[in-house]
Amino acid sequence: MRYTKAQFEAEYPNNDVCLDAVFEARFGDLEFCPKCGAKTKFYRVKKRKCYACMHCGYQLHPLANTIFRKSSTSLSNWFYAIYLFSVAKNGVSAKELERHLGVTYKCAWRMAKQIRLLMAQETSKFMGVIEADETFMGGRRPINRRFDNKTALLGIAEKRGRVKVKALDGKVRAGKVLPYLKENIEPLSVLHTDESGLYNQAHKTFKHRTVDHGWHTYVSPTGVHTNNIEGFWSQLKRSVNGTYHAVSPKYLQSYVDEFAFRYNHRAFAVGRVLLDKALKHGG
Ligand SMILES: [Zn+2]
Repeated sequence: MRYTKAQFEAEYPNNDVCLDAVFEARFGDLEFCPKCGAKTKFYRVKKRKCYACMHCGYQLHPLANTIFRKSSTSLSNWFYAIYLFSVAKNGVSAKELERHLGVTYKCAWRMAKQIRLLMAQETSKFMGVIEADETFMGGRRPINRRFDNKTALLGIAEKRGRVKVKALDGKVRAGKVLPYLKENIEPLSVLHTDESGLYNQAHKTFKHRTVDHGWHTYVSPTGVHTNNIEGFWSQLKRSVNGTYHAVSPKYLQSYVDEFAFRYNHRAFAVGRVLLDKALKHGG
């Protein structure tokens, strides 16, 4: 289900409509005025970005505490930028935003940074039957043979559901893997992994099952497999193929956050979800 540019433009044709959308998302179900207490309606104050109580004139500023606050960029530019992030398979650079929106590079860079924060991974724990696996990214163009410039990713996946991924600093060790699993998966969940020694201690927290030897790429008769997380790895690698050279874990994490966000919301219109987040969660 795609959220098309035509749908987006029909829904948010101008700044006033965008501002109404922010007001509606934040204060839409406010029945009584916080100031005079009367059952009221709020009307838009002409030429200002606020709404006033029809009884006492008390003003509400819907952009306060959102990523849109104190921005010299128009609200419709912000909405369009969010839309672009939602549809771009490989992320959006500040340079592209600058070109699409006609804003300064500095402004575009700040907008991109704020929108990426909306795409950060959620902290709630997965539960049920969860797959875990690790992979390596980068290292296509070794600058110096003495350094291993690959970055490891550790990921977990729900069966046909969401993923969470962490870029690891340095070598992959059980001492990094297990704490991440405990942080992100409810105890007593069923954990599916391959036979890697990284997961040797996992049975102490989870119901740990390993993929049967020889069945790595197929669903084994026991139903234990890691196809979902492996499928995510291959999508991620296909998308960065040729475009991804930098391998700092920090950079990779932000790239993966975006990719995982789009993946996790694939069944919905990603742009819709992102806009809702921008409207409700502030910045
Ligand atoms: Zn009032």
